[in-house]
This record gives sequence, structure tokens and C-alpha cells, in this order.
Amino acid sequence: MSYTIGHIAAIVQGKTRLTDPGAKIEHLLIDSRRLVFGATSLFFALPGSRNEGSYYISELILRGVSNFVVPTGLEVDAWQFANFIFVDDVRSALQNLACVHRQKYNFPVIGITGSNGKTIIKEWLYQVMHRDLNIVRNPRSYNSQTGVPLSIWQMDHGHQLGIFEAGISRPGEMVRLEKMIMPTIGVLTNIGEAHKEGFIDNLQKAHEKSQLFANAKQVVYCKDVLTPGFNPESWQANAVDREISFFSWSRRPGASLVVVDQIITTGLTIINGVYAGSPVSITIPFTDRISIDNAITCWCVMIMLGYTQELISERMRHLVAVDMRMQLKAAIHGCVLINDSYSNDLLSLALALDYLQQQSIGKKSTVILSDILQSGIPPAQLLELVLEKVEAAGVDRLILIGPEFYSLRAMPALIEGKYPARWQAHVYESTASFIQSVHSSLFKDEVILLKGARIFEFERIGHLLEAQTHQTVLEVNLNAMVHNLKEYQGILDPNTKVMAMVKAFSYGSGSVEIARLLQYQKVDYLAVAYADEGIALRKEGVSLPIMVMNPEEVTFDALTEYNLEPELYSFSILRAFNQFLDRAGLGGFPVHLKIDTGMHRLGFETDEVPAVAEVLVSNHRMVVRSVFSHLVGSDSPLYDEFSLRQASDFQNACTLIENRIGYPFIKHLSNTGAIFRHSQLQFDMVRIGIGLYGIAAAGVTLALQPAVSLKTTIAQVRAVRAGESVGYSRAGLLTRDSSIATVRIGYADGFSRKLGNGVGGMLVRGSLAPVVGNVCMDMTMLDVTGIKGVREDDTVEVFGSNLPVTQLAEWCGTIPYEIMTGISQRVKRVYFEE
Ligand SMILES: *Cc1c(COP(=O)(O)O)cnc(C)c1O
Repeated sequence: MSYTIGHIAAIVQGKTRLTDPGAKIEHLLIDSRRLVFGATSLFFALPGSRNEGSYYISELILRGVSNFVVPTGLEVDAWQFANFIFVDDVRSALQNLACVHRQKYNFPVIGITGSNGKTIIKEWLYQVMHRDLNIVRNPRSYNSQTGVPLSIWQMDHGHQLGIFEAGISRPGEMVRLEKMIMPTIGVLTNIGEAHKEGFIDNLQKAHEKSQLFANAKQVVYCKDVLTPGFNPESWQANAVDREISFFSWSRRPGASLVVVDQIITTGLTIINGVYAGSPVSITIPFTDRISIDNAITCWCVMIMLGYTQELISERMRHLVAVDMRMQLKAAIHGCVLINDSYSNDLLSLALALDYLQQQSIGKKSTVILSDILQSGIPPAQLLELVLEKVEAAGVDRLILIGPEFYSLRAMPALIEGKYPARWQAHVYESTASFIQSVHSSLFKDEVILLKGARIFEFERIGHLLEAQTHQTVLEVNLNAMVHNLKEYQGILDPNTKVMAMVKAFSYGSGSVEIARLLQYQKVDYLAVAYADEGIALRKEGVSLPIMVMNPEEVTFDALTEYNLEPELYSFSILRAFNQFLDRAGLGGFPVHLKIDTGMHRLGFETDEVPAVAEVLVSNHRMVVRSVFSHLVGSDSPLYDEFSLRQASDFQNACTLIENRIGYPFIKHLSNTGAIFRHSQLQFDMVRIGIGLYGIAAAGVTLALQPAVSLKTTIAQVRAVRAGESVGYSRAGLLTRDSSIATVRIGYADGFSRKLGNGVGGMLVRGSLAPVVGNVCMDMTMLDVTGIKGVREDDTVEVFGSNLPVTQLAEWCGTIPYEIMTGISQRVKRVYFEE
């Protein structure tokens, strides 16, 4: 299918200023960082609440883009040679274009929605059917208001089936998604509490989600997980124009497929059921409840599409886990390894390269890539595309593995100077030959992206490159952090700047990885507690301005050398820094003034402010970059009156300073709690900390996602008789015969000793297992009596999405900040991007 900019202007009914109406458009772009094909891309300047898309136009023009959809009224005279389409609502234009594109195809389309399991079901349906049909689907979980149009845009005449998931967070969104996806077959996973979404209750959510099936002719759903009062079969009443055939499954009688029993053996589950009066059965290589449910839903879809039971059971036996996450881990010789085991296609390659670029700021980067299977593009042309993308991502070294790439190893692009000299390519026929011929010393201080189709078994390369690991890990979900950042930005004024607090290793979550992410997301400022933390960030190439809250005199040298900006909070530090600048002959150095308005920690007293202003008025050594203060209780209504008083004292201090020194500076007061509760106190900038991690005080209605989880594993499980005791000092006296699991985390890791003797617990196979006895230095014992199937090496959640860190804090009688920052450095940090 081909479009010109002229066609698209007509489709979206925009006004135009076209210099070349015949310009061909092949790619839609909404994020300037994801640009690969300049000439044939159309950029939609979406109204983010900040960083307006239009802000990027100059940059994109320099990079070869000349087609833009922009808001009506945007001044474009500066860009003489580009094509512009003007619309009132850029996002709707993108969606309308997707709708028109969708209508060109009439192959079946499966639309999936529900609270959980959408992506897994989509990927599994793909796994079980891709051998028979050419399938188009959303990359990863591109299921939002902008992800769906980009997914739909991939539809092409070669495809025979579409599988698209739809995710919503607010009422009114599904209608738009339905218009783009227009599913002929609907799949409803379940309606649960997955995210705090913007709905009144589950029933409203269920009705909203079911809008996806407004035009579907077939609908698959599970009867057992429906919200009370919600019955999909009642939709038939509204669908006057068509007969909907429903296909339900249940563990109780009365569904199309009734699951009679499931037998779990080592690593496998046999699921027996009755369909159309006959016994049917599948076996899947998973044993957890969620996977079993997802597999049954896929089973129903296959039956509905006419697959035979033989073929279904054959395909089900080979389901493989879907790991959507890109993992970032420490690797040998100071390297960082990004492991992306999601299927290897061009789109997901682009996403992985984007992540590589984000994480390799200031470092060398290497890509290890397998053949890209089933792209439908001739190999030589495919290689060209790969090289183009890799080149655009600024990669230093490319290692290609697989027979297809190997057959092209003599291509000029791989050996000659078409690409810059700093860029090297190596080609190997197989993973085994790569492993044999390469020594690990080849890799040093670089970021390595490992991206291979499953059959290439790149996990073998992963094992070679990964640093040795303690099995207790703190997982940080970078997507969730970005999401949380955007949730908070969404309630701020578009012009309010954001300072991200990355002190104390970003609240224990690691520092440079988070800082890089935030830099990439274009926050305005970072803040750390001590100079050393800032220096570490600079050494890793972080270039955002950084405020140091507790600058000590001995660090002034380093501060100025690394361009770190001190917080000045007393006359003694003000004078000392001034003298230092004087001696060093430095001028115009940015500083931040802290005013004490009630916290009584650091800061100038309000009555000292006039004197401070006097010192600064004729001072050329220092430039006041910002003035700020800190609220003592922004997250609770108890302190609202005090907060307002602090704010007014702060405002007075700022006015006084500004009047006296005669130039403007950034004013900031709010931390996370205040961003939500005191929107009128945002001044010019806010300082966000804990909110980035999805941890909020009671009453916060933003749809935050937990970003950190602490996990460990079981070292041993044993039966212990009643009357025996567990652990030191015989504290864990057993009153019944018990099953005790020893896990690999103790107080030295940050699991407080206060959690011992039943005070705290961890999640084992989804159930809360209380701590039995005292917590040891490196280990803790859990009572897992009655929890089925507990085995050695099982993963155990200490806190995370299912056991909130706030709960752990409550058990310990502390706050989540202390728990998070108390996780010791021996616990490995692993970063995920979905
Ligand atoms: C830590 C800190 C913040 C961030 O607080 P959160 O409650 O985590 O948002 C803001 N300002 C100052 C001065 C801080 O020390």
C-alpha cells in the first residue's frame, strides 16, 4: 500500500502547506528518537503535555524528515522546504489515518482486551498459528491510543490474519481503539484490578472494554473471571445487524469448553476438558495458573478458527514463554549487557536499538544480532535495512550470527567503507562458531545488545558475558518509571520543569541507569545528595545539570571540575564557595539557594534572606540558578495549613531576592506529595522522588505502576516437626508439623531483622509465607506449610507488584524510602524495558 502526503492530507482533512504533494510516505513517526527512515517518514507532532512534538521539528528536518502533521496555527515559515498538514487534533489525525488504512483489508482480525494476559495471549496465538498464516500484530505491548495506530499501519496485502491487543486506562478510549482495530473476532481475557484505572468500578470497566467487540462476529471469553453483573452474551441484544457467536470456557459446567481437570507434573500441565460432548486435552510446558488460563483461552480461539484437536495439542506442547522485557545487567569487564529475547523482527530491533542508544550515552556499543526470520524481505535488502538502523543508532560494532547473514558476508556494505571507519562488522555462521572463535576479552567497558531469534540460543552467549550473580535481585522496571513520570507530568502545567531526585543511588535502585533514562526522557534537572554521586554520573556521561544538596568544602574542586551545581544553605558555605571561586578564578558559576521555611534541616532562615541578597547583589562569581525550600508534610492533609505557610514564606523570600539581585531564577518547592496535593505550589519546577517508583501516599489517584521489586530464591525446603524450632535462639518454635523454606536474603541484604518471627512475610507461589524465627544475616526461613508445589530455586517476591513495599514498610514500622535505600549493594540491580 502506498500513500503520498497529498493523499494523507485528504484523509485527515487537514489544511496544508505542501511543497511536494507527491512525496511518498511509508513510515509514521511520533517519537523523534525512533527516526530511522528520514525521507519517507511522516512525523505527527503529538501534544505531549510538555516537550510539544512541534519542538522537535527543526531537529528532525536536519535529520532528513520533510513531512509533518502539526497543530493548526503552528508557525512554519521558518521551514521553507518541508510539507505540513495542519489539523486541530494531531492524535485524532493519526488515529483516523489508521482507521482508513485498516478498512483496506478484509482478512480476519483478532482483537484482545482485558486486564491481564493480553500480550501473552497475542504472542501465543502468534506462536501457534504463524506457520499457517502470515500474521500482523502489535510489536511488544503497543496497545495504547498511539501504539495501536502504529501497529495497524503495519497491515499489508501480504497478511492473512491480524492479532491486536487493546489497552485502556480511561473511559471513552476503547471506542477509538475499536474503530482502528475493527476486530472480527474478540478475545476477552479477564476483568480484574490490574491497574488502578480511571474507572468507577469493575462493571464500568468491563462495559468499556467490551466496546472493542462492537462489530465482532465471534467472541471468546472465560466465564469464571467475569465481574458480577456482566454478561457478554447480553450484547447480542444490541447487535441487531449480526449474529454473534460466543465461545466461552469455564471450570464449571455450562460453557462451550468445560475444563474438567488439570494435572500438573514436572514442568507440564495436562488440561482435560469437554468440547461438543467429546473429551479433549492439551498439554502445555507451564504449570502456573496464569499460563494455564492463557493457554486455555488460546485453545478456544484455535477451536473457533477450525483447527483440529491433533494440531492444537501438537502446537500447545511447544508454547514458549514470552519475555517481553529487555534486561539490563552488569557483565564481564565493566560491560553492560542488554538481553532482548523478544522475537527478532525489524520493528523490535528498532526498539532495542533505541534502548541501547539510551543506555550507552558516553560508552561504546556493540550489537550481537541473529538472522531475522520470516521478514518477507529478500536477504540482501534486509541486511541493508539492518545496517541502516544500526548505523543510525550510532553503534560501534556489529556482530551478525546465522546462516543467512553468513551467506552475505562478502557484501560490500559489510567490508568496505560505506559505513564509517569506527564501525566494524563481524559475521559468524552459528552461535557455536561465534562462541568458539571469540574470547571474552574482546568485550570491555561497553554496552552490548544481545538480540537473537529463539532458535539461535543466544542465552548461551548471555551466560558467557554475564557477571556472576547472587540470586537476590532488585528488578527495576524502566517503563514503569517513565509511565509514572508521565503521570505526574500530566497533572503539571506544561511549562513546569522537573528535577528528578536521584540521591542515594536513586532511592536504592541504581543511579546511572536511572539518570540515563531520565536524561533521555528530557527531565530538566537531576539532584543528588553528595558530590561523589554527581561525579559518578558525570563519569558515565550524564550531561544534565545536576544539583548537589550537601556540598562539602573538600569537594569544591571536584564540583567545579565536573560542573556540578551546589546548594548553598548557610553563610559559612556561601562564603567558602565564594572564596573558592575567587581563588580558582571562576565566574558565573550556577548555585542554588535553600531557604528554611519550617523543615529546620538545611537552609537560610527567612530573616537571613535580606543579608544573603546583599552578598549576592554585586557578586559575579555566582549566578543564582534557583531558590528553593522543602515542605515538611506535603503528602498529608494534616499539614496543609503548615505547607501553605511555608509556601508563602518561600514566595516572600524569592520576591525579596529577585528584587534585590535583579535577575530571574527557577523557584521550586514541591516534592512528589505536593505535585499531587498542592498543584498551586508548583512554581517553576518540581522535585520528584518517590513518585517515580510508583509509590504514593493514601488518596493519590494517579495510575501509578510499581517500578521496583525485590526477588530472591529458595535454597532449601524441609519438613520440620512440631516442637522443633527454626533458626537462632530457638525463636521459631513450631506448634505444628511444618514445611520450612530457606531463602537467600537476610538482614545484610536489607531485609530487616524486625521482620522476623511472623512480623513479615514473602510471596511464595503467590501465597504469603510468614517469616519463621529470626532473620539471619544472609538467609531467612519462611513457613510454607500448605503452599502447594514449593521447590528449591523457586523465585520469591520480597516486595513488588504483588506485595507492595508500603506493606513491608508498615511491618517494619518505617517508610518505603528507608526500605528502598536500605537494600545493600550486594543485591544485584537488573533493569527491564518492556
Ligand atoms: C528527597 C527530596 C525530594 C524528593 O522527595 P519525594 O518525597 O521522594 O518526592 C525533594 N526535595 C528535597 C530537598 C529532597 O531532599
